[in-house]
Amino acid sequence: MIDLRSDTVTRPTPAMYEAMCAAPVGDDVWGDDPTVSAFEQAVAETTGKQAALLFPSGTQSNLVALMAHCGRGDEYIVGQQAHTYGFEGGGAAVLGSIQPQPVENADDGSLPLDKVRAAIKADDFHFARTRLLALENTIGGKILPQDYIRDATALAREHQLATHLDGARLFNAAVGTDTPLAALCEPFDSVSLCFSKGLGAPVGSVLVGSTELIDRARRWRKVTGGGMRQSGIIAAGCWHALEHHLPDLADDHRRAETLARGMAALPDVTVTSRATNMVFADFPEEHLTPLANWLHDHDILIDLLDSARLVTHRDIRDADIDKVIAVMQAYFNRHETRA
Ligand SMILES: *Cc1c(COP(=O)(O)O)cnc(C)c1O
Repeated sequence: MIDLRSDTVTRPTPAMYEAMCAAPVGDDVWGDDPTVSAFEQAVAETTGKQAALLFPSGTQSNLVALMAHCGRGDEYIVGQQAHTYGFEGGGAAVLGSIQPQPVENADDGSLPLDKVRAAIKADDFHFARTRLLALENTIGGKILPQDYIRDATALAREHQLATHLDGARLFNAAVGTDTPLAALCEPFDSVSLCFSKGLGAPVGSVLVGSTELIDRARRWRKVTGGGMRQSGIIAAGCWHALEHHLPDLADDHRRAETLARGMAALPDVTVTSRATNMVFADFPEEHLTPLANWLHDHDILIDLLDSARLVTHRDIRDADIDKVIAVMQAYFNRHETRA
């Protein structure tokens, strides 16, 4: 199968399995797992933060970050399209008693600063207490401009708000802009990173921030069921990915560009966005289901709801991209002959 539904579908490589098998482990809830501890320290150093904490998922890492920043009756400002707001089951509200204050994202994924400013509540007992600004980078594959991030986090600080970055795909932003990870993390109080997306580890996200914040996060991680035992096995996979797979993300970006160019040349296809490893496209509605079936019959999987998302990753090769374009072309040729 050529699986373009997400970059989460990658499988561990033999070398990654080997690293996982060889990892010394202990009970991490007791602080005894040497691989987890060393990995967390390595991620803290790479991101330029004081401390790091390993989680089984990015959803939990984000949730715990929100709970470490905000208490009951506090509020966080977040994008209408953000993963923490729209795709994590409302966890901040459900489990954290934190009220989200969504703001409409601009086309480039940013939250317009005038809207953020307008959403910050005055100190008045009628209102939830605005405590945090949460951004996402990349968002829909798009890299937030670093100038924008500087301005947005400065605005947050001016209003005594903490800042969190959902950096599930921050590695793609780092490679896409040739910027060190630490520089992208620097403006934020906390950053959540996923190792199970384009980097290709089977499991694992890491939250980074100050020692004080990570101490609070460690408590919430335990409360939410994220304390893990011999998780050095997981950490070793993430560590291997960090050390060996990072530069390969540039190939994913190049392949997404080739895919977008090929699709844009097809009749009836409108490529609406291509950024880092993601291509979004619109098809006339009557084609959606038959095209998805046609692709499936040719061993190609894409995420096709009202519009299509195609995500490249390390298990997609150049030849796969050529095949996807050829199979789409064949679908439209066939359709036109019939019409
Ligand atoms: C994948 C992802 C997450 C976390 O997802 P999990 O599946 O829980 O690891 C968070 N934010 C964004 C933007 C993501 O893409």
